[in-house]
Amino acid sequence: MKVDLRSDTLTRPTKEMLNAMFCAQVGDDVFGEDPEVNALQVLTAAIFGMEAGLFCPSGTMTNQIAIKINTQPMDEVICDKLSHIYLYEGGGMMFNSGVSPRLLSGERGILTPGMIAENINPEDVHYPRTKLISLENTCNKGGGSFYTLPQIEAISGLAKKEGLKLHLDGARVFNALNRTGENPVEYGKYFDTISVCLSKGLGAPVGSVLLGSHEAIQHAKRVRKVFGGGMRQAGYLAAAGIYALNHHIERLSEDHRRAKILETVLRENNKIQEVIPAETNIVIFKPDPKWKTNKEVLAMLADSGIKGAPFGNEYIRFVTHLDITDEMTAYTANRLSALGK
Ligand SMILES: *Cc1c(COP(=O)(O)O)cnc(C)c1O
Repeated sequence: MKVDLRSDTLTRPTKEMLNAMFCAQVGDDVFGEDPEVNALQVLTAAIFGMEAGLFCPSGTMTNQIAIKINTQPMDEVICDKLSHIYLYEGGGMMFNSGVSPRLLSGERGILTPGMIAENINPEDVHYPRTKLISLENTCNKGGGSFYTLPQIEAISGLAKKEGLKLHLDGARVFNALNRTGENPVEYGKYFDTISVCLSKGLGAPVGSVLLGSHEAIQHAKRVRKVFGGGMRQAGYLAAAGIYALNHHIERLSEDHRRAKILETVLRENNKIQEVIPAETNIVIFKPDPKWKTNKEVLAMLADSGIKGAPFGNEYIRFVTHLDITDEMTAYTANRLSALGK
């Protein structure tokens, strides 16, 4: 059996999604004339209680545009040291926006108002101006850890008091909402900008949506053009996004249930030294280095048709997603139990 757990970006469109794409009504979106893209932007904004949306090719682009429109060169961005915007966007915030990151050590990527307050610079020419706080929900490198609305509300209160902007990297925000049972429409009250990925757990082939006020999205549209992200008949892709929002949100709990199964068998195996709690669809674990390295364990699993991703030099990451079935999960659990035996 082949089981690819390297990432939730590996999903391929379902037949129904392909059909929705095939039936899309399209136009030139750089002219603002693609009905499917316009509908996706309106739908996503409505879900999160935001005024407007902008469809972009990737979550890296929506994050980078958000940083650009919320800051000026020489400003500082507060984020966790595990943040995607810092670790996995190629140094983009420094290059595209000329800003420095202020890296905090949250609890598995989750920040508190206290930590943030301590790291807001005073008005003094020595320090960069603190301008933006960026949260990641769920936090990828934190093993899919998530924020609840009261935590977000408290950080937003601090941001407003201090005159700071608040961005959400919501690549997996629906995984978080699935766990908390909260209504996404509440998010609109707290964030200036939100990036939502359609191509992760939601299963669309391409795309992310940036959300914000009408004014912010007007500005974002200029930046998207400069970044080369203006797409023409993008409605074929937007149609997949609309299908995903309408059909693939509730099923995320299946991914979470399967991740728990993998976590449980890993915990029972004494060749595995550490397993990070699988709070959503991400399972991160570390084989006992006295036994084998992560690369060696990945090679053993690959011999059984199971693919995971190395996470740093010691850890392995599995991500459950739309294309992982109960049969694949049971097979993987079985192979994981057998490791070292
Ligand atoms: C995947 C991901 C992104 C965006 O990645 P793209 O591959 O550029 O779409 C942003 N933030 C987090 C936390 C992610 O996991």
